[in-house]
Amino acid sequence: MVAKLYFYVTFLKANVMKLSELKQGETGVIIKVKGHGEFRKRIIEMGFVRGKEIKVVRYAPLKDPIEYQIMGYEVSLRRSEAELIEVEPVNSYIKPENGQNNISFVDTLQNFRQKIKEKTHTINIALVGNPNCGKTTLFNTITGAAEHVGNYGGVTVDAKKGKTKRFGYTFEITDLPGTYSLTTYSPEEIYVRHYLLYEFPDVIINVVDATNLERNLYLTTQLIDMNIPIVIALNMYDELQKNGDKLDYQALGELMGIPIVPTIAATGYGIDQLLKTVIDVYEGINPIARPIKINYGKEIEEAIEKLVKLIDIEENKPFTNIVNPRFIAIKLLEKDKDMYENVKMMSNGEQIIQLANKLIKHIEKQLKEDTEIIIADARYGFISGALAETYKQGKSDKYQTTKIIDSIVTNKYLGFPIFFLFLWLMFESTFKLGEYPMIWLEDLVNWVSELLSKFMPPGMLKDLLIDGIIGGVGSVLVFLPNILILFFFIAIMEDTGYMARVAFIMDKLMHKIGLHGKSFIPLLMGFGCNVPAVMATRTIENRNDRILTMLINPFMSCSARLPIYILILGTFFPKYAGIGLLLIYLTGILVAIVMAIFFKKTLFRKNQAPFVMELPPYRWPTTKILLKDIWNKGKQYLQKMGGVILIATIIIWALENFPRPKELDQYYLSQKTKVQAYYDSLAKANPAQATVYKTKLDSTLDKLDLQYKTKLQEQSYIARLGRVFEPIMRPLGFDWKMTVSLMAGTSAKEIVVTTMSVLYQADNNHILRHKLKTARYESGPRKGQLIFTPAVALAFMIFVLTYFPCIATITAIANESGSWKWALFSATYTTTLAWVLAFLTYHFVNLIA
Ligand code: GDP
Ligand code: MG
Repeated sequence: MVAKLYFYVTFLKANVMKLSELKQGETGVIIKVKGHGEFRKRIIEMGFVRGKEIKVVRYAPLKDPIEYQIMGYEVSLRRSEAELIEVEPVNSYIKPENGQNNISFVDTLQNFRQKIKEKTHTINIALVGNPNCGKTTLFNTITGAAEHVGNYGGVTVDAKKGKTKRFGYTFEITDLPGTYSLTTYSPEEIYVRHYLLYEFPDVIINVVDATNLERNLYLTTQLIDMNIPIVIALNMYDELQKNGDKLDYQALGELMGIPIVPTIAATGYGIDQLLKTVIDVYEGINPIARPIKINYGKEIEEAIEKLVKLIDIEENKPFTNIVNPRFIAIKLLEKDKDMYENVKMMSNGEQIIQLANKLIKHIEKQLKEDTEIIIADARYGFISGALAETYKQGKSDKYQTTKIIDSIVTNKYLGFPIFFLFLWLMFESTFKLGEYPMIWLEDLVNWVSELLSKFMPPGMLKDLLIDGIIGGVGSVLVFLPNILILFFFIAIMEDTGYMARVAFIMDKLMHKIGLHGKSFIPLLMGFGCNVPAVMATRTIENRNDRILTMLINPFMSCSARLPIYILILGTFFPKYAGIGLLLIYLTGILVAIVMAIFFKKTLFRKNQAPFVMELPPYRWPTTKILLKDIWNKGKQYLQKMGGVILIATIIIWALENFPRPKELDQYYLSQKTKVQAYYDSLAKANPAQATVYKTKLDSTLDKLDLQYKTKLQEQSYIARLGRVFEPIMRPLGFDWKMTVSLMAGTSAKEIVVTTMSVLYQADNNHILRHKLKTARYESGPRKGQLIFTPAVALAFMIFVLTYFPCIATITAIANESGSWKWALFSATYTTTLAWVLAFLTYHFVNLIA
């Protein structure tokens, strides 16, 4: 049985002992009883309570059932039941011999008691709720973590775990992906459902958006069917109050049999009460929590009853102890594929499925409606009924503002101009506002480098530090402000809800290229970083769409490429830098569109069913959340700087500085001595002109130094490497230095700039700019010509935009698509495309210029 297998695996993984594993005569202490509510209740009523000692009396001949002794009584349990009870074994040496009473024994006993206390006071909590209801914010507030929040569906694609200790209990909290339902249409829904059924969280916190009760409670109705312990966090309570809505949440909780605690996740309001309620529910002393049954109407209820009779038989216990039989029956009537697969593996699975099909047909004929719709309607009926008694909407239309803003930003004519205006503002600010702090940072880097060059003795280490590390890492460090500004704008888009609108207005357009609005969010996130963007494709239901989105995602130019554009644009097109940046990004989008159409026509031809695009109400992002977000991104950037970029810089520096031929060293040393001697003699002959000669000497020595370094570089390993690949890049107008920089950039795109600054021997970006502008070919057919013409500069940026996404992105694609095939495909086709596009750009610009 899949479910059972799953259950065993996770149970073993959790490193806990099951009651069924205790041997005859052994004793254990009960830690937890798992399974759904009814089963747990029955077992607990039999005396299997947390913290109680239990002894294995004897096994039946076939090891099933097992006889236990608990609180002086003897009871027998089925093996499948004992498997759901977690125990801590009492080691034999802890048991006192008659009359024995020494210190170490008391000590061990105390330790053991402590252990039991900790284990029975640990509550596993799962956060479940619709996308965008504030789960992650709540998770962060409770655990103090800094997970990303955003005002659109699908930010959380993975389960995240966190821990906190409060009120004498340890809370282990899991933030699950947002879902509207527990049907199994999307990977998240399956994930959440399996998690709830087979990982046995002790208590579920169902996070509910108070401003959108009707839709949010739909999920709650499904949780009710599962019969598991729930507490509702009535989140966004501030918004509910602001709207002037009146909700008697106490009464609503009583109606649904679920305690409700109002919370404001962002400020922490209600969190203590929430955790206390969780404890009460866990300890079984909450007066409100009770199992209820949603009434699905006469026909469905009759069908459920018939199915439950067939499902709830002795042989199926291993399954029905875990999953509530009523839930199984309802899911079957809803034609849930996953449940059919599971039921097939029951001993009388075929019979159950046959009956379910017969019942469905019968009901549909009778009511002239699909069963899944009848059940959904009944759920909404339940919610409407509950709300009618407890909820009064405020006078103001709570969505008034949202409606007005939406009528503008999603307007047929205004939507796109507004979006492009926003993009323009974003890129213009990234460039212009970033300039000032960038200058300060440059000064700082210069200052450090000068300080070092003054105080460090000359030698290899000094070269490595100044030319290699400070030059290289410093050259990308200075772009930190630009990147933070870009992330600020992306965070604003996410947190206000504008991102969802953009997805919405893009939906029609996206259909034209065979995708839909949902793919647009990963694409937009790609402007920040392609790695989380590729991960965010998980929210797309259809596999083909998912892979297609991953394939075009790298053309959404990530922030790591920003330093390259800023460098090149600022050097060669300073007047048009802002608009140039926008054009680059638009080119990326255009390429993505063309490739999407191409792939859709060739690789993925099937069409998909339409679905709803969510438009969550607008929210003011809180400064705290914005700052946290930006700070995290900045931290990641700095960590990258201290890690992969630092290492790459050192490697590139080494490749550039070795080998060091003795003859070359000696030649330049003798040249220097000669020059020195020459000017010394001149100065001696004419002391009045000594200072003039000194200046001349210094400048000649500098020239020699530069010559030496250039010669050294020309025969270095890196130059040799560059020359091997240069012929491939020559048709694009690239020289070997650009070639090497691009190759280095495959590990992380920032490294392109780092490499250039090492190769051009520039300690800071100012010098680098100057050197790029004046660099000329020193040999070969183009000798004497400028290396960087506008055509080359443009082709270079186009190449950077489209070629090989970084290794991290490729790995993410491999993970998300489930195969390296797509990752390799992505790597090769983007690079080929980059070559072709750069080639066209170079020759086209040359033609018209
Ligand atoms: P998730 O998708 O359920 O994980 O939701 P998030 O935690 O990402 O939150 C969605 C948005 O709601 C974010 O912009 C949060 O800042 C905001 N938010 C979360 N909780 C509250 C709350 O209690 N009140 C208000 N006004 N906003 C909230
Ligand atoms: Mg989330």
